[in-house]
Order: sequence, then C-alpha cells, then structure tokens
Amino acid sequence: MLLSGIRNNHVAHAQLFAGRPGSPALSLALAYATYLNCENPGDEDVCGQCPSCAKNQKFVHPDVHFIFPVSSTKNVAAKDASSRLFLKEWREFLLTTPYGSLQDWSTLYGGEDKQALISTKEKQTITNDLSLKAFEGKYKIMLIWLPELMHPNAANGILKVLEEPPENSVFLLVSEQPDRLLTTIQSRVQRLNIPSFSDQELSELLVAAHGIQEERSKQLAHLADGSLRLALHLSTEAEEDNYAQFSHWMRLCHQRQMNDLVDNAEEFSKLTRGAQNAFLQYGLSMFREALISASSTHDGLLRVENQEKTFVSNFGKALSVDQIQKMAELISEAMYHLERNASAKILFMNLSINISKVIKSK
Ligand SMILES: [Zn+2]
Repeated sequence: MLLSGIRNNHVAHAQLFAGRPGSPALSLALAYATYLNCENPGDEDVCGQCPSCAKNQKFVHPDVHFIFPVSSTKNVAAKDASSRLFLKEWREFLLTTPYGSLQDWSTLYGGEDKQALISTKEKQTITNDLSLKAFEGKYKIMLIWLPELMHPNAANGILKVLEEPPENSVFLLVSEQPDRLLTTIQSRVQRLNIPSFSDQELSELLVAAHGIQEERSKQLAHLADGSLRLALHLSTEAEEDNYAQFSHWMRLCHQRQMNDLVDNAEEFSKLTRGAQNAFLQYGLSMFREALISASSTHDGLLRVENQEKTFVSNFGKALSVDQIQKMAELISEAMYHLERNASAKILFMNLSINISKVIKSK
C-alpha cells in the first residue's frame, strides 16, 4: 500500500502507523521516510547508498523532523522539556531500540518514572519546521511518535496543520493507542494497522539478526507474543532455566512452604532488575498459556512445547480460569511495582503468599 501510493504519486500527507509495542510500526515508518526521499529508489526498497539514505540511516536528514514524548530530567526543567533537547538520545534510541517502549525511551533519556508528554511547545516547533522549504529532499517529513501523548493544545495545533498541510509535507504518526487520538485527527489521517510479528517471523529474526540459537529463538518467540522488544529483552535477561525456577516456585506456593518461600524471595532479590522482570514476564506468559489450556480443549492454540506444555496443561486442569486470571493479575501488579523500584524481596514474598492464597481458594 505504501509503495503503490508512491508509485502512483498519491502520497497521503498524513498517515497513521498503528501497532502494538514491539511491533514494526516505528521501524516501518522510518523505512518509509527513507524511501520517500531516496534519490535512487528500487522497486521495493531504498538504494541505501545515496546521500539521503546515508543521512536517514543515522537519523540526521535535515528534512526529517521528529516529535516524541519527553519529561523533565535531572538536567532539564519541566517547562523546558521538548523533543529538540533530546535529539541525541532519540537517535540513539532509534539506532539501538526501534522496537522499544515508552519505558525504554524514558530510561534512555533519563526521565525515569516521570510522565512523558508531547508538550504544547511542539505546536510551534512543528509549524516552524514545516514552514521551511525542503532543504534536500522531495518531502518534508514530520514523524510523531506516540501522538496519543500529546497535550490537547499541541493536538489542536497539529490539527490545524493537518487541515492545511504545507506543500510536500508528510506527517507520519506512529501510535500504540490510536483510539486515544482526537477523532478529528483520526479522521484526517490514512490509517495503516501494522500487525505484530508472527511467532515464526520473530523466531527467524532472532536467529538471523541476533544470533540466537534456533531452539531458544522458538521458545522466546512463543513467550514474547509478537513483540520483538519483549523477545530481545527476554533473550538478554531471562535465565536459561526459567522453566525450572518457575515450576519450582509454583510448587512451593502450592505447598505453602513458608521457609522455602522466604529463601526463594531472597534468591529472587539477588537477580538484576532486568532478570527479575524477565522472570515475572515468563510467569505471565505461562499463565496466559494455562488460561488457553484451561478454557479450551484445542491445544493447537498453545505456543509452548514439551515440558512447558505438560506443565501448562496440568496447571490448566488443576485450577479454574478465575484462579489463573487472578494469579496473572497479581503478577502484572508486581511487575508494575517492580518498575517503580519496590523492594524486590518483599514484593516477591508478598506475591508468593498471594498466589498460594489463590491456589488454596478453590
Ligand atoms: Zn537512497
């Protein structure tokens, strides 16, 4: 659709790339922006050689502008925070983590737990940037990442520009929650729903681009639910024997062995934050699989294999859908607090006790 728009000289001046976190929405929008200004494009891809491509590969093309959510940091006051001040970090983010989430981005630029937003100031930035003549390229491109986090004033400003777009300008909105955009904005953009990766695509990518063993890549793909971000995260942080640890932990919760659970929480607290998070994420994926197993007789929907599959199906038989759902909620909640720097030991102990209560509540 994107390519044929270009071929037929029908490039929509405002396009929305909608995709879940970890989907290729942002990387596709970047590739598209590169293609639009490539000096020698092939039928299906950029040349990768021309000066325009070279600049776009480093995200320094003068006709490609970026707006994204930011917050105050140690060095930047809230009233000054705007995309412009964080371009260096933004380029690093695009180069290293184009499948990253808002949280990855906040961590990278130093916003930590502060609420990142696209501020009212950006309205002016957008108008200024687009009022200029294109320096080098055919198109002036304004890529807005997570436009759902726009301050309403900024959103209204953008709406004005969308109504009367400057010549040869293209807006690319890359959104995780497009339904949160003003309906007046939604109605002015051409929407593309970017699917998440399939398990097979993920697993192939992990092998080809990240040098992960095939067997492991399949396991990771099953757990990551279409998110390359999550798959990569699990690949670096997750212990190889997550399964052994997880099934051991569930057994302790079931037997309500308090002393062992305390030791277990102690062990958990010694892991890095990333590994703790990956472990809980793993647990959440296993519960998700158990839910499928408990609520369906068709195990073709299951993504796990071998011992994990046996575990999940036993789990699904032993517990009700409500119980598993409750346990999944407890884990999500724990992950939320872990991200906000709760004490890992207390948090994990608390989680273990609550899970054993749910198991017993049958
Ligand atoms: Zn090129």
